[in-house]
Amino acid sequence: MPLVPTAPDHFGADEFCASCQICTRSCPPGAITESKQLIRGVERWYVNFDKCIPFFAEAASCGICIAECPWTRPDVRPKLLSTMAKRIRP
Ligand code: SF4
Ligand code: SF4
Repeated sequence: MPLVPTAPDHFGADEFCASCQICTRSCPPGAITESKQLIRGVERWYVNFDKCIPFFAEAASCGICIAECPWTRPDVRPKLLSTMAKRIRP
């Protein structure tokens, strides 16, 4: 089926992360940067695995960043989605 390309749908995820920063603050070794970094020519949210992996290995597990992210909480996620959707399509 031929598809017609359209502009990306801007949902505001980058802005959300830029003001949230919960994972950045909760990471014990400080592996998650506060802003996007230029990685191989592309701006990306960045986890420094040279900091993450040694901590993860020493603690035999981690995942604090994932557990603390509001988007991983089933009771919070629907409200966040609805709030963000209203912002772009009031
Ligand atoms: S898994 Fe742990 S150490 Fe690695 S980035 Fe997440 S919080 Fe930081
Ligand atoms: S905790 Fe989740 S929503 Fe908050 S900055 Fe990190 S990835 Fe983004």
